[in-house]
Amino acid sequence: EKEAFMRQSEQLSTITQMSAGIAHEIKNPLTALKGFMQLGAANPELRDSYNALLLSEVNRIESIVNDFMMLAKPASSKQLEPVNIKQMIDYVLELYQSLIAEKAIKVHTSINCGEFTLESDPNRFKQILINIIKNAIEAVELKGTVCIDVFCDYSEAKIVVKDNGKGLSEERLKRLGEPFFTTKKDGTGLGIMVTRKMVDDLGGTIKYSSEEGKGTCVTIAFPM
Ligand code: ADP
Ligand code: MG
Repeated sequence: EKEAFMRQSEQLSTITQMSAGIAHEIKNPLTALKGFMQLGAANPELRDSYNALLLSEVNRIESIVNDFMMLAKPASSKQLEPVNIKQMIDYVLELYQSLIAEKAIKVHTSINCGEFTLESDPNRFKQILINIIKNAIEAVELKGTVCIDVFCDYSEAKIVVKDNGKGLSEERLKRLGEPFFTTKKDGTGLGIMVTRKMVDDLGGTIKYSSEEGKGTCVTIAFPM
């Protein structure tokens, strides 16, 4: 009973901290929105020039809310279905094709799944791939490389996403998954935390290895 109480108060404190963090992250773009709207109201001729700024602040709020909503989904709502891993990866690459083209990134994909089919929750699975592949694409320089290798056997499906981007120091590697830990100007620092939760919901594992200046390798594995 005491243990349950401890667990509950720990959960409550995590929720409190998370809510405070989210509120704080959303407050900045909201303040900016309010300011630009007030300026626009006073100076109608300038409204058009504020539009792009308004939109970028709204986009910022949207990405924070999107990332966060993935956390709120109860684990029990997962719908297991056969998932075509190759199709999912193609979909995600399609999503980021303009960024990939802009940075002239080379993407190598190799799928070694034979006749094995993974049963998973397609929504979570897709979101996991999106978060990991997006980070890899963002980490590489111009003309960088991202390799996606998939191996399946009777026991597991393993997906390895490797990039030759800027990598992470040991200190930063330890902080991965900490809410709001980001090194990006437009980052939310929620992606990895949400990814970990979803991988966990699906009974899988996730591992990061990285070397500063060399690149990062993310391995996720799901039971078959
Ligand atoms: P965000 O992408 O919004 O910053 P994430 O939770 O997805 O939030 O990632 C947190 C941080 O982890 C990133 O800001 C970055 O510093 C680091 N990171 C994640 N993936 C990689 C990667 N493939 N290579 C280098 N750094 C990474
Ligand atoms: Mg990210």
